[in-house]
Amino acid sequence: MQRRRSFEPSTLDELKSLAESAGYTVLGKIEQVRAPDPRYQIGYGKIKELVKLVKETGAQKIIFDNPLRPVQAYNIAKETGVEAIDRFQLILEIFARRATTTEAKLQIQLARLKYELARAKEKVRLAKLGEQPGFMGLGAYEVDVYYETVKRQIQTIIEKLRKIRRKRVLHRERRAELGFPSISLAGYTNAGKSSLFTALTEEEVPIDNALFTTLSTTTRLVKFSRKKFLLTDTVGFIDRLPLTLIEAFRSTLEETIYSDLILLVVDVSEPIATIEKKLSVCLETIEHIGASGIPIITALNKIDLLSEMETQEKFEALRDKTPKPVLISALYGLNIDKLKEEIAKNLRNYVRASFSLPLSNEAMPFLSWLFSRADVQEIKYEGDVAYVTFEAVPWFAEKVKSRVGELGGKIESFKY
Ligand code: GDP
Ligand code: MG
Repeated sequence: MQRRRSFEPSTLDELKSLAESAGYTVLGKIEQVRAPDPRYQIGYGKIKELVKLVKETGAQKIIFDNPLRPVQAYNIAKETGVEAIDRFQLILEIFARRATTTEAKLQIQLARLKYELARAKEKVRLAKLGEQPGFMGLGAYEVDVYYETVKRQIQTIIEKLRKIRRKRVLHRERRAELGFPSISLAGYTNAGKSSLFTALTEEEVPIDNALFTTLSTTTRLVKFSRKKFLLTDTVGFIDRLPLTLIEAFRSTLEETIYSDLILLVVDVSEPIATIEKKLSVCLETIEHIGASGIPIITALNKIDLLSEMETQEKFEALRDKTPKPVLISALYGLNIDKLKEEIAKNLRNYVRASFSLPLSNEAMPFLSWLFSRADVQEIKYEGDVAYVTFEAVPWFAEKVKSRVGELGGKIESFKY
């Protein structure tokens, strides 16, 4: 749902991608060009249309691109019978879904409370005016108490965050203990990250339950160029990100983007000035959070929407502005093989090792652990000795090496 002025471009496509990132299925959309209405944000005629659409589609929520004041959200919910949220609340939901570290969770809670505080003021005012009797079931006095409570909670979180920052966990320790190289998809909402994720996960590798529970819901184990990788669809960069959400965004991005390679997805069908602006925000943010040592490949996506000449012009304009650009179409599967080759070529940071291990009681659990957490390429048994060849990222391979030693085995080869 969007209300806009006639000269502004529609941002509903972006809102749809955002809604999908938050796990929603989009059932319909309505747009109106006019000045905002104080009661409903949109006009009353549109509200009637919205009521009808909600009924027809069985929608359970309405998402507005425009900011909703509490009174507007309340009025819309009353008319339509379903909850109405705005873009800000939607973005908060996306971050909340992705956050796993304590710091990211606290940052999100902080942003949510600050938002609540701003709205509590209006609720206090409305309750005092008696405009909304029983708004959220609260009278004027209770709303005052509520306001003070939120303020105190904000202070508590700020204090907790200060303590956490003093003893930052190493990024390595944040990651799941896995030997597979990991790739993170990054880029703006609507650039085509999820589409590329789908194109690259066609050859998804089945994994066991224990591993499944340690992976985040947006991570898959995939195989190409005869190698296995973990691929993660990260929280995307968001256009017009509200200022109060910047810290929450950074800490959520930070925990997902640490990987062996970043695949930056760019919508190359947009005007060149927009592409350049977005690229510089992405690259600067990656640097800002300290992930600049990670190799980056840029997937210039949606070339199917451009003529061959336009594609070449854009490529020439961008080739020196972004790392390792590859022209693709995620939707039509154009140049995906070329992209996979480029990925494999840039992921040289792993070890290929072989060892022999006597089959003791402790050896079997160790081998099954290794099977589920690294790329075991060969295993054969001779008598009561196992011969294993595997590939893994260096720190993981080192760990295997020392465990093999402890179990009385022998490293036969160990190559970077
Ligand atoms: P995300 O927000 O970055 O995850 O982007 P999505 O993968 O959800 O894609 C956003 C929109 O762009 C969707 O409507 C896709 O169908 C569309 N899209 C993605 N890749 C391509 C492409 O290669 N060509 C075209 N024409 N559309 C694409
Ligand atoms: Mg997506």
